[in-house]
Amino acid sequence: MRAKGTGTIVKYGYIVHESGGIAVGEHVLVAEKALGKRLPSGAIVHHVDKNPQNNAPANLVVCPSRAYHHLIHVRMRAVAACGNPNWRKCRICKRYDDPANLVISGSRRWHHACWAKRCGWKRKYRPRGFKRILTANGISLTIEEWTQRLGCSESLIRQRIDSLGWDEARAVLTPPRREMARPRGAAATAHRTA
Ligand SMILES: [Zn+2]
Ligand SMILES: [Zn+2]
Repeated sequence: MRAKGTGTIVKYGYIVHESGGIAVGEHVLVAEKALGKRLPSGAIVHHVDKNPQNNAPANLVVCPSRAYHHLIHVRMRAVAACGNPNWRKCRICKRYDDPANLVISGSRRWHHACWAKRCGWKRKYRPRGFKRILTANGISLTIEEWTQRLGCSESLIRQRIDSLGWDEARAVLTPPRREMARPRGAAATAHRTA
């Protein structure tokens, strides 16, 4: 029979050695033996095969910090999900993608298009100085640039999408209706008759 507070138990899935009432994870003891010294403070021992009871030295990686350990798991999840450790998950559509295609806000990432679809274009959700991007026929331009191409006002494009529910392509490719351009036509007529 073992003495009180001494021996080996399994706690939270880890093998833990108790000695005189002090409990230490076996993975920590194995890592410290391999290092030849105590683990630096803040260090975390990661199990490569995700089995917390496989404490073979080759299965252990000493991470200098919690953040580093977290990154290992993020990269492992990315590999499992899409095969590329560098890709990250869009919070909204849950698909993995090249980080270059994602908007980063702290630790959160999302596709611009997913965000726009979810939040709409309410001003309070729009980052300051943000330029609205609209895509049609594979071309992405700011709303100002589409305005110049189409020869209409920004408010017309906004109205078509936000109020009339047009899709982006239709909104930026449909020329303004003739009656909306009347002031310009009237001026031209006046010029001709003058
Ligand atoms: Zn881990
Ligand atoms: Zn997305």
